[in-house]
Amino acid sequence: AQERYASIRDKPAVTQDGQTIALVMNAGLMADLPSLDSSGAEGVGLFRTELQFLIHNKMPKRSELVALYERVLDAADGKRVVFRTLDIGSDKVLPYMKPTDEPNPALGWRAIRVGLDKPGVMRMQLQALLRAAAGRPLSLMFPFVAQFEEYREARAEVDKMVERERKLGHVLPERIEVGAMLETPSLAFAPQKFFDEVGFLSIGGNDLKQFFFAADRENERVRRRYDTLNVSFLSLIERIVERCDRSGTPLSFCGEDAGRPVEALCLAAIGIRTLSMRPASIGPVKSLLHRVDLGELRKRIIDARHRGDQSVRPAVLEYLRSLP
Ligand code: PEP
Ligand code: MG
Repeated sequence: AQERYASIRDKPAVTQDGQTIALVMNAGLMADLPSLDSSGAEGVGLFRTELQFLIHNKMPKRSELVALYERVLDAADGKRVVFRTLDIGSDKVLPYMKPTDEPNPALGWRAIRVGLDKPGVMRMQLQALLRAAAGRPLSLMFPFVAQFEEYREARAEVDKMVERERKLGHVLPERIEVGAMLETPSLAFAPQKFFDEVGFLSIGGNDLKQFFFAADRENERVRRRYDTLNVSFLSLIERIVERCDRSGTPLSFCGEDAGRPVEALCLAAIGIRTLSMRPASIGPVKSLLHRVDLGELRKRIIDARHRGDQSVRPAVLEYLRSLP
């Protein structure tokens, strides 16, 4: 299998019915970057910046972050890297920050909520990203945005930092794209204006699924209870696809399901055009995409829904068994 994946590494993921899916990878540390070449990923769809903060026992300095982000961009060699600003709180607690004693951390003070309430660290990080990307394109996104206003406030922070950098005489990025992760169901129902304004969206399926089914992603007892291919969850994803299409907003999917071949196929069949996954999944997902007709798969998904199936998985597996 490894050899088969190597032979398709530099080929695009084009399906039997001629649809092209972009496959990009998730990363979090410098050590992940060599996988860009070895996996054939077209870029980094999710760079989890908190990992750098989690592996140290003190807050990294701005200069250290600038150096790291520069090395990441150098290593990507012009391929797009989407930096996600700090996603801390809940399961990701910084050892050097005062722990907050919260009854339900997953629903608590985390990610962009911390960034907006106590903007010091987020500003430092934004400044580091702006400096590291001097003269080249910068893509960044905010985690855990639950409503339009949070995106607007975060976006205003970016604009403020750009202004500050300009005044200080620093070279700015060639262009800046600011996006958001869609990982709370509420954001799927934001005003259409949000979809017009946001630079791009990436579905964080791990969290979106946990909140959609009210099933803790860390809890073994309930974690696997609900299928990602459940018709209700797929309807939510379709709704997001439609709203993004209407606004011409680029959309990707970056939860772990993007790297599971059967799940990845279904996401592509309902309109997701960019999948971001761990590097080792790129080969298997691409190889399966090469074999399928997404139009046919879509029909099977719609039929399953009309029949009242709980999950489209059986129908999809039946289709896969029928392939030559
Ligand atoms: C997600 O929630 O799907 C996601 C990609 O972010 P994380 O797994 O880091 O919460
Ligand atoms: Mg998440």
